[in-house]
Amino acid sequence: MDIVSHVPHYEAKYIDDHDIMKILAAEAVEFLLSSEGKVPLSSCNGKSICLFFSANWCRPCRAFIPHLVELYDTLRKRGESLEIIFISFDRDEDGFNEHLKSMPWLAVPFDVNLHRRLINRYRVDRIPSFIPLCSDGVTVEEDLIACIEDYGAEAFPFTRKRREELKAIDKRKREEVSLEELLVHDGRNFLISADHKKVPVSELVGKTIGLYFCAHWSPPCRAFTVQLTEAYNNLMTAKDRRFETVLVSTDRDLMEFNMNLSTMPWLAIPYEDRTKHDLCRIFDIKGIPALVLIGPDGKVITMNGKFMVSSYGAEAYPFTESRIKDLEAALRKEGEALPHQVEDVKHEHVLKLDMAKAYVCDFCKRQGRFWAFSCDVCDYDLHPSCVEKVSKDDCFLQNTITATLPPEI
Ligand SMILES: [Zn+2]
Ligand SMILES: [Zn+2]
Repeated sequence: MDIVSHVPHYEAKYIDDHDIMKILAAEAVEFLLSSEGKVPLSSCNGKSICLFFSANWCRPCRAFIPHLVELYDTLRKRGESLEIIFISFDRDEDGFNEHLKSMPWLAVPFDVNLHRRLINRYRVDRIPSFIPLCSDGVTVEEDLIACIEDYGAEAFPFTRKRREELKAIDKRKREEVSLEELLVHDGRNFLISADHKKVPVSELVGKTIGLYFCAHWSPPCRAFTVQLTEAYNNLMTAKDRRFETVLVSTDRDLMEFNMNLSTMPWLAIPYEDRTKHDLCRIFDIKGIPALVLIGPDGKVITMNGKFMVSSYGAEAYPFTESRIKDLEAALRKEGEALPHQVEDVKHEHVLKLDMAKAYVCDFCKRQGRFWAFSCDVCDYDLHPSCVEKVSKDDCFLQNTITATLPPEI
């Protein structure tokens, strides 16, 4: 169907696209809807109007609405005279009504044809779409949906200039600001522990801090939490090591968050706090688990704390490049001092020196890192320290046996 042909051309000529009220009046729309009922068009007089195109059947729309609700509430509390008008992509009135329930703003009453004309008029080619009519349309940030998801109400007034400003603020936060500026938010100046104690952020100043981005539903996160806990506990028992970890949860709900935190001996940003979201954006976290390490001076030491901790545990402290270089050098030296292969009394095959990121020793059953003596034939690993070399007498015996065997053809 050619939807464009339904647009009456005289309107496009005479009514400015920014004057939605005139457009609606020309369409004989007599009132708008809120989730509570009819609202006169005049209620929008003098307000900055934003159009919101969305549909109940669309998952990205439903995921976006909480962000927009937060923005709407914040801006109205701040006294901005903002109004949002929802224009539906829903196929039927039930979907439309259901969708409207999730919105505290207004809607153009359900009318598929009218909605299509508006969709065409504003050239909306995807949903969710958010079109602020208050600005000139030229300087509007292109990906406004992402901008609102990233920055919430801070995205106002939705211009490209504003987006650039926000990016610059993020950069400054990443590179220059104090720990308190990063972790304190909107009157909350504490972090919480698993037993719901509040710990002032100021107590963390001067320590090395690990910002731990993690969610309980993710198996790699749960695995890394175990490694980080071991390193954390080791660091906490060493008196001169001033270290703290802060969970920046990406859990899907409060219950998951509580479950996640209950496995951790460190602190967390409260679940309902927006700071979690801001930190993900500021440090450009693309995957979890992630560990950003911040030095006592408040500057980022490394974005790759996960590698350091999973490779070296507490030994990696204070997580500087030079510390890692020293560890690597020590490791190389250790390897150079070991034989290339050994015969162990506990195992029937020759064991070869191997570099394994993590393994479990088949003798003492404890975790091992790096150097291992491993069997090529079966899945068998030993700590170098757990090797019990075949004694000379045994060797002699073995050699004798070998010597008596017929030569291989
Ligand atoms: Zn062992
Ligand atoms: Zn073997």
